[in-house]
Amino acid sequence: MKKIQRRAALSSIGAMSLGITALAKGEIVSEPYKIKKQTLKTDILVIGGGTAGVIAAIQAGRAGRKTILVENGSQLGGTTTTGGVAFPGIFFAWGNQIISGIGWELVQAAVALNDDTLPNFSIPHGKNHPRHQVRLNGQLYAMLIEEKCIEAGVQIRFYETPTQIMFKKNNWIVQTMGKGMITEIICNQLIDCTGNAYATSIAGFTVLREAETQPGSLMFEIGGYDFNSLDLKMIQARYQETIQKGELVKTDFRNNIVGVLKSKGDNISHVMGADSTTSESHTLANIKGRTSLLQTLRFLRTLPGLEKTKLVDMQNETAVRETYRIDGHYKITHADYVTGKKFDDAVSYSYYPIDVHDENGVVPDHLKEGIVPTVPLRALIPKNSRNFLVAGRCISSDRLANSALRVQASCMGMGQAAGATAVLANLQNKTPLDVSIKDIKEMIEAHGGIVPV
Ligand SMILES: Cc1cc2nc3c(=O)[nH]c(=O)nc-3n(C[C@H](O)[C@H](O)[C@H](O)COP(=O)(O)OP(=O)(O)OC[C@H]3O[C@@H](n4cnc5c(N)ncnc54)[C@H](O)[C@@H]3O)c2cc1C
Repeated sequence: MKKIQRRAALSSIGAMSLGITALAKGEIVSEPYKIKKQTLKTDILVIGGGTAGVIAAIQAGRAGRKTILVENGSQLGGTTTTGGVAFPGIFFAWGNQIISGIGWELVQAAVALNDDTLPNFSIPHGKNHPRHQVRLNGQLYAMLIEEKCIEAGVQIRFYETPTQIMFKKNNWIVQTMGKGMITEIICNQLIDCTGNAYATSIAGFTVLREAETQPGSLMFEIGGYDFNSLDLKMIQARYQETIQKGELVKTDFRNNIVGVLKSKGDNISHVMGADSTTSESHTLANIKGRTSLLQTLRFLRTLPGLEKTKLVDMQNETAVRETYRIDGHYKITHADYVTGKKFDDAVSYSYYPIDVHDENGVVPDHLKEGIVPTVPLRALIPKNSRNFLVAGRCISSDRLANSALRVQASCMGMGQAAGATAVLANLQNKTPLDVSIKDIKEMIEAHGGIVPV
């Protein structure tokens, strides 16, 4: 009953936004379309509805704050869903759960609704850390998190992106551009969860990036062949010849066509220089990923045993590992991460090997037994900012620390911490840096999260 009411409400919004005054049968006359301009007021604005942003928004909404979530894509979940990296990790370290809360609740819900299975976290992953990542159905997860946002009272705004962000009288004024709409959003606290520190940069704060960034990946699955009956030596030799002729690019699949076939394509493509920060750079990353996959599919189908190779699935975006990071009040260093430094203002845990991909692939550097790194609040706050937080892969960290901090469970933990901090800052009329860590931890725990002790 409730769902039907929601549907009816949604369809009337659609009609109003198109300027259709009365619904009638047959041809409908409508005025020429004009760009709609509007102003919205909210307590908390989250920009970027990906891995971290959804959790930040749900936390803010569940804590009773008026919350808007702006996302430039068509669904929530970001890299976890649209990027196809539907294997969030890692929630457990050394036999104990270290990240729980809203992210873990949603991951478990997606697993249960698809009859998937959780890894057995009590068996140590050893050098095979992906064993502790949770394989889930990305599209199902996208639907679930959308439902949870709506239930938490979060107003979702798809297809919109900020064009201007200004601070005035203790509020942020954010102008967004979307399809047929220009919206001014006045908010008290802003959380940048774009993964690229995009809102941070537009707001005028410094962002940092490496001269060379990790490659992105286009996620896909191939099938139609029997791996065990293939002549792998011949295939690798033909692959090298084709690269020599300039018809395939060595770095696109880590120079390892056998790996592509064995994994059926799982998380193996490399799109060098992939950058999702602007529509132009993301377009290029998408086209590069698709061009390379198409050429490789055609090549595979010329080889004995692979004539029937087919594309089973492919994401519609190249997923991006690394672009910009904020210049925060504290920069988490590699030494902090690998020694598991316990910060006084730690608000969440993180756990992953140091994991830098380059053109040849990746050799993870595992943490020493017992080490569980922490994330200080100061790393979520750009220098010189007020009423501004960041969560997700673009937090303040050096490159090596970032290569581990960027993973999904860690982003979810940070998202919840940023959401809780924004709520308290709004309620207490403070800037995030001045909110008491004790209060933040209490709110996170009250919403099921785990906080560093
Ligand atoms: C190929 C690949 C493999 C990976 N493997 C793993 C793994 O095995 N396990 C693991 O846990 N992690 C893995 N990661 C890392 C992890 O998935 C990401 O680092 C993490 O999901 C990033 O979360 P985020 O919230 O910072 O960004 P995202 O999830 O990317 O979310 C950012 C959101 O912001 C939106 N956005 C961006 N710019 C704007 C804008 N200007 N306006 C409005 N909206 C905007 C985007 O559309 C997106 O929805 C992998 C990453 C990649 C790319």
